[in-house]
Amino acid sequence: MPSPERTAVNTPSSPPFSLRELSCADDYDPNSMPVDKAREYIRTFLTPVTATERLHVRAALGRVLAEDIRSPIAVPGHDNSAMDGYALRYDDLSSGTAVTLKVTGSSFAGKPFGRVVNPGEAVRIMTGGVLPEGADTVVMQEMVKAGGDSVTVPPRDEAKLRARGINTRKAGEDLQVGSIALHRGWRVNPAELGMIASLGINEVAVYRKLRVAFFSTGDELRSIGQPLAAGEIYDSNRYTLYGMLTKLDCEIIDMGVIVDEPAAVEAAFATAAGIADVVITSGGVSVGEADYIKAVLDRLGEVLFWKIAMKPGRPLAYGKLGQAHFFGLPGNPVSVMVTFYQFVRDALLILSGQTRLPLLPTLQATLRAPIRKGPGRTEFQRGILTVEPDGHYSVAVTGDQGSGILSSMSQANCFVILGPLVGNVAAGETVEVQMFDGAI
Ligand code: AMP
Ligand code: MG
Repeated sequence: MPSPERTAVNTPSSPPFSLRELSCADDYDPNSMPVDKAREYIRTFLTPVTATERLHVRAALGRVLAEDIRSPIAVPGHDNSAMDGYALRYDDLSSGTAVTLKVTGSSFAGKPFGRVVNPGEAVRIMTGGVLPEGADTVVMQEMVKAGGDSVTVPPRDEAKLRARGINTRKAGEDLQVGSIALHRGWRVNPAELGMIASLGINEVAVYRKLRVAFFSTGDELRSIGQPLAAGEIYDSNRYTLYGMLTKLDCEIIDMGVIVDEPAAVEAAFATAAGIADVVITSGGVSVGEADYIKAVLDRLGEVLFWKIAMKPGRPLAYGKLGQAHFFGLPGNPVSVMVTFYQFVRDALLILSGQTRLPLLPTLQATLRAPIRKGPGRTEFQRGILTVEPDGHYSVAVTGDQGSGILSSMSQANCFVILGPLVGNVAAGETVEVQMFDGAI
């Protein structure tokens, strides 16, 4: 089933229950949290930004409109021609015989005729040219015989002349004066930029950018430029996060690597929660590491720790630190990207004020090679989707699916999503695929 390109969201102004109440609900099981349920819970707590700023049209690219944009003019502004040809009065045409009309002038785009077309007359007109007063129809130039100051037009029973008004565009047929051209909550994409410009509007109100602070935790992590000692690795999560957040037009606060030590981590969380709308960390939420982080977070706010029934990306923390939303992502590089795409991305789009969420498109594809999978969890395996010569989609996964194999994300262009009830899948079977190539 093809997925709609976008989905509408309706965010409640205040959640129906608190994070603490949620954790006491009957069907709430933090140790086996279905992907959909986690998404639904998170959505309950999201309240979009309200602060706005006014920006010049080009600077608004990628931003979210904070006002409905009403058209100050009719678009198009005048009845005009959809073709190159001759503007004439439909009543001048006769049935069964051609008529010859006197050509009294021309109407080119931007250079109107400016006079009336009288009975027995025609005006040479180009696409976009204003339809002169008196004329109501345009006959295509391919259909006429033009000679000197006259033009011979075929009878009105010809296929392309059977209705008054043919080949004309009506004033206001795209937008009428005062009608809403673009809605509050829409992201300004290239089409919206063009629309705003077409209305002659110079500045628009947009929501302020979402401020997102993030840091990594782990004594083994080094930043680029530092040498690696035995057992140390370079921090890559801050870079994938930087990339994903930049594409979503967030304001980014990169707080670096924080050592695995309660006082340092607590200070980092407190700082982040004070300056950002959203705080994202990676690492430190897996069993064993979670304990002290949990104590730190409990002092600063209310955070829920979940074991999501998914692979990769099992441990996930979500909650509030003061006014800031907090996402504690797992440390493994692939898990970070999967949990970001499955939980954080939508949340950020909603928080940024968007009411039409650009979906990661999902589609069905035939497996080129078998997949091994145990039942119980939803897996997001990395796949390479291609179009077969006959036009249908096929997909194969990218070899090793370990949650530390970041190259799998780079090779892939999609997730192969295998639901909790699915086990091994044979080549030739159909699977669901979610595209992330080029996604925002
Ligand atoms: P953790 O969740 O902290 O136990 O981390 C799980 C795995 O992810 C470990 O192998 C970590 O070394 C690795 N890891 C954690 N944070 C990062 C990071 N920022 N960049 C790359 N790998 C990481
Ligand atoms: Mg760690």
